[in-house]
Amino acid sequence: MSDTAVDHHPMWEKLGIDLPAHDMLLGAIPQLYQDAYLTQEGRPQGMAYFDFVVSEIHGLRIKELVDHKAAGGIVVGTFCLYVPEELIRAVGGLNVGLCAGAEWAYDEAECYVPRNTCALIKAAMGFKLGKVCPYAESADLVIGETTCDGKKKTWELLGEMVPVYVTELPQMKRPADRTLWRGEIERLVEKLEEVSGRKLEAAALKTATREVNDKRRALQRLNACRAAHPAPISGRDALLAVQVAFYDDVPRFTQMVNKIADELEQRVADGVGVVPPEAPRVLITGTPMSIPNWKIHTIVEKAGAVVVGEEQCTGSRYYEKLVDESPETLDGMLDAIADKYLDINCACFTPNTARTYDVLRLARDLHADGVIHQSLQFCATYQTEATSVDRAVKQAGYPVLRLDTDYSDEDVGQLSTRVEAFVEMLR
Ligand code: SF4
Ligand code: SF4
Repeated sequence: MSDTAVDHHPMWEKLGIDLPAHDMLLGAIPQLYQDAYLTQEGRPQGMAYFDFVVSEIHGLRIKELVDHKAAGGIVVGTFCLYVPEELIRAVGGLNVGLCAGAEWAYDEAECYVPRNTCALIKAAMGFKLGKVCPYAESADLVIGETTCDGKKKTWELLGEMVPVYVTELPQMKRPADRTLWRGEIERLVEKLEEVSGRKLEAAALKTATREVNDKRRALQRLNACRAAHPAPISGRDALLAVQVAFYDDVPRFTQMVNKIADELEQRVADGVGVVPPEAPRVLITGTPMSIPNWKIHTIVEKAGAVVVGEEQCTGSRYYEKLVDESPETLDGMLDAIADKYLDINCACFTPNTARTYDVLRLARDLHADGVIHQSLQFCATYQTEATSVDRAVKQAGYPVLRLDTDYSDEDVGQLSTRVEAFVEMLR
């Protein structure tokens, strides 16, 4: 990306963005970022890349998407980890995550979805209805999935505004469910071929699989460093890297994250941290935190703890597992993709005990002192699953704090009080 300041208003206008509303939205980001990020001390130098990405959040990357479309490519919007990015790339598409992490146009959104819908869905609808998201306005196709009930029904309404294709994700992981899911992967390929006008070729899928795996490997390297005492990077910075992974250029992102990982590995070797060695270490598990939702990490780290890991879709669920790169046939590659994606442990599955094992494994490997289970309010799957996850975490000897929240600032005072007491208890 070039860092020459450019006025993006003409581009946004062409995309159909509501310019005054969008200016207001973008105007709020610098202060939010300043408070959550730029007040931190001792950040890795490599995070300068992410500072730049956030400063250009609707600018240069959107320009790249517009240029990509002008050159004959497609842009595909997604809302969930179960949509294989490899397939989109292999037909010349660029994947952009559309989950929104800030309240916007809730009044309009609530004309479509009930008030007691989770913030993630409500915000996604609000961003679309309010015409303030150039990623959503750039998408040639949006792929939904049958995960939770809220999303499932939202796709029907969103489909009135943009082309939406829904993949049927099973709710269990039995052999019959795997067969259904494999068929859904085939059908998704057909849809992507139709929209892109390109046939899926084995060579292109092999390249795309390696590129997306490389992105995951870079994030694995960065996150492995967080096991060190003292932690060489804050939880906020590590979270930001995963949030940006959902829409950034894949090879560039991989290169930048590997650069940060080099720096962190050196910090670990030198015993350099961003917090004192005695700072309590917290693992966070639960619902995803889409950009710019930095609320809980900021509260936890301002209370004197450091977040050392996220068992979330904006965390380990995103980068821990790789697609097997060994198959040489298209069929074999699609098998590998089906297997990898069905192996994500989201609370929309039953049973979902593997997620509990993941939480315990991460707490142990990252040397966490305690676990925070955070759910978005009205997320029935995660809020209900919190009961069994929290029980297992406690039985394993970790203190656990359960937080149910949304994107507003209204509960920040109350959450801060509870988190501060929790962090004191961990000391
Ligand atoms: S929490 Fe579940 S439904 Fe939400 S993005 Fe992750 S996998 Fe998809
Ligand atoms: S947070 Fe929960 S309710 Fe909201 S979209 Fe994700 S799974 Fe569905």
